Amino acid sequence: MIIVMEDVSQHKDYMLDKLHQYGLEAHAVPDHEKLVISVCGEHVDRYANSISRMPGVLNVLLISTPYKLVSKQYKPDYSRIHINDLVFGDTAIPVVAGPCAVEGYTEFSEAAKIVKQSGAVMLRGGAFKPRTSPYSFQGLEIEGLKIMRKIADKLKMPIVTEITDQRKVEIVAEYADMLQIGARNMHNYVLLKEAAQSKKPILLKRGLAATIEEWLMAAEYIMLAGNDHLVLCERGIRTFETYTRNTLDLNAIPLIKQLSHLPVIVDPSHGTGDWRLVGAMAAASIAAGADGLMIEVHPAPEEAMSDGKQSLTPKSFYELMDKLKHIAFAIGRRIYSNG
Ligand code: PEP
Ligand code: MN
Repeated sequence: MIIVMEDVSQHKDYMLDKLHQYGLEAHAVPDHEKLVISVCGEHVDRYANSISRMPGVLNVLLISTPYKLVSKQYKPDYSRIHINDLVFGDTAIPVVAGPCAVEGYTEFSEAAKIVKQSGAVMLRGGAFKPRTSPYSFQGLEIEGLKIMRKIADKLKMPIVTEITDQRKVEIVAEYADMLQIGARNMHNYVLLKEAAQSKKPILLKRGLAATIEEWLMAAEYIMLAGNDHLVLCERGIRTFETYTRNTLDLNAIPLIKQLSHLPVIVDPSHGTGDWRLVGAMAAASIAAGADGLMIEVHPAPEEAMSDGKQSLTPKSFYELMDKLKHIAFAIGRRIYSNG
């Protein structure tokens, strides 16, 4: 159950007291325009009528799903998430692009210019890399953040970068416009809560083996911590198939659109692990209703320090962006343009 109330401390204290008496568990969502209380417990529905008559109550919503704030039952209109001038969840579809990792000033600068010229409106790049092997390149860390910020300011583009450790939230939030929670950390609830508290917009990737419900529950952690600047990202899940890195679950897009008000974007680079498949899956994602794309592009993929196999060349990214315009148009949308 969600209770929406006037933000009056007297009413709040009365309500929390009552909920406690009923044996229900209440979580007040901090920093909301109104006071929003998420309530769980046995037979919670029984109390709806009496709660709705208590002082200051504006609305009581009975939500049947385990995720409440994330659900479309709570917020029937789709959310629009703003990153500076950019919007996720609008008719225009933003494309986020850049290398897997920031490798140095020259490489990132070149990659950023290339993707901007082709129509990307936001930059990606990892400074803290969650690599499978501890012997692989781990990212330039703070130096990488500085490089990204410098180039992003020069090109007037926002950046999204991954945060892998709750102790680094403050420093990453200082440099990035959006914090990415990667697939490996989707279940890291301490990190989710810390990242939420930064108040920065968050890109929450689906876990490697997470169900849609687990993914939405992870999103609920962020919203319950008072941060509703949230975008979901489908990036493929692990299945029995070994010919691709992951199986890109395109079902997730129309399904999330039915279950949640949050925008959902797709990362076909990690979803496939193979640059030859990225274009087709990017196109399919737009056709299926994705609110954005995140694509890895490297000036010279054969020399990339990570994920070269799935990175597009500048030329293939340019050609793809042209193709995507037509697909977006066919479904009554358009690719967000920086021009
Ligand atoms: C990434 O986007 O750089 C990344 C590591 O992705 P994922 O968390 O989806 O594997
Ligand atoms: Mn990568």
